[in-house]
Amino acid sequence: MAKRKSHMQWSWVIIVLFFTLSIVDIRFGILGFACMAAPMYHALKGRGKIHCSSYCPRGSFLGKFLSKISFQNTLPKWMRSKQFKNVLLLMMITLFSFSLYHAGWNYRNISFAVFRFMLASFIIGILIGIFFKPRSWCQICPMGHATGLIKGALEKE
Ligand code: SF4
Repeated sequence: MAKRKSHMQWSWVIIVLFFTLSIVDIRFGILGFACMAAPMYHALKGRGKIHCSSYCPRGSFLGKFLSKISFQNTLPKWMRSKQFKNVLLLMMITLFSFSLYHAGWNYRNISFAVFRFMLASFIIGILIGIFFKPRSWCQICPMGHATGLIKGALEKE
C-alpha cells in the first residue's frame, strides 16, 4: 500500500469547525456521521488504520493541544484489554442507536443526537488525555477499535 501524506498537523481544525458550526446551527451536527464513517470507509477499503494515523481530526486535536497539560500517565492495562474495548464499542453502538431511535425521523433531532454523541466522546477523550497520555483515548476509541476489527477480519480472508 502506498504511503499517504499525514494531515494530522492541521486536521484538528475540522473538529473545531464542526463543533462551532453545530453550536451556531444544530443542523450541522449531522456532519458528525462523516467523522464516524471515515475510519470505517478506509478500513473497508483495505487501508487499515490509515484514518487514525493520517487524518483523524479528533486524534489530531488530542495530540496537538493536550501535550502541555497532560499528566502523561500510562493508561491502566485493564483499559487497554480487548474485553474493555469490546464492551465500550457495544455500549457506544447501543447508546447511539437508542438516541437515534428517539430522534425519530426528525432532521434536527438526529443532528442533535449526533452532535451530543460527538461532544460527549470528545470531552471524555480530552479528560482521558489530561489524566493519561494525550492520545490515550485512541487506545480505547470505539471507532479505532472497530477499524482494527475490520482490518483483522479482512486480513483473515
Ligand atoms: S482511535 Fe479514534 S480518535 Fe484516535 S485517531 Fe482513530 S478514530 Fe481518531
